[in-house]
Amino acid sequence: LRSKITKLEKMEVVSQLAASISHEVRNPLTVVKGFIDLLKDPDLSPEDRERYLQHVVRELKSAETIINDYLTYAKPTTEDIGIIFIDREIRSIIEMTKPMANMNSVKISEELAPGITRGNIQHFKQCLLNLIKNSIEAMPNGGEFSVVTTVSKFDIIIEISDTGVGMSKEQISRFGEPYYSTKEKGTGLGSMVIVKTIETMNGKIKIDSVLNKGTTIRITLPSYTS
Ligand code: ADP
Ligand code: MG
Repeated sequence: LRSKITKLEKMEVVSQLAASISHEVRNPLTVVKGFIDLLKDPDLSPEDRERYLQHVVRELKSAETIINDYLTYAKPTTEDIGIIFIDREIRSIIEMTKPMANMNSVKISEELAPGITRGNIQHFKQCLLNLIKNSIEAMPNGGEFSVVTTVSKFDIIIEISDTGVGMSKEQISRFGEPYYSTKEKGTGLGSMVIVKTIETMNGKIKIDSVLNKGTTIRITLPSYTS
């Protein structure tokens, strides 16, 4: 019974994600269509043509990002479960996000104890990326971001903290709900991926936040010892 429920739940997640992706990709494609119509004008100046083409490329890139962010996740990948060296993966995701952090005057610190857990590495990376993105976006005027992991015999604790805008009680309780976003250009899908990934890895999420002070998201995962 237990495995049947899990399978059903997984299928639901996949169809939910498929719906999310088509919804999100439609917007940039509509914009592209609009610019292509404008490009049909034979009297268009070379400058305008160049400008419109730049818009087309930008919107196509945006559609690509959305697909990259969520489509890897939508693949049913029961076979892709393996061991994950959390310190190594966290370090590589932090490296990836450094340019974004620099651009936003966000200082990053890390304290990573080596630990091993099990799961889909792609999903785990996506989950971390979404957490870091949210933290950076919560600090539009800069701030500090830190990741600390502690490893014991049974648990791995990953603590992700920022000195950002913080979250209200409602924001905390709606974390993980698809399309819930307080951002002008938010998708409200990042936290859904985070929650589903950690659930699938048999982990737990706890959010501590104070408005205008910052947020700490604590993730507990089972520690895997071979
Ligand atoms: P999005 O980032 O597209 O808005 P998410 O699902 O990633 O969607 O996050 C949902 C909402 O949770 C955000 O809009 C924001 O209100 C809140 N949130 C998530 N992480 C943080 C954080 N670190 N600090 C403040 N608010 C956050
Ligand atoms: Mg987000």
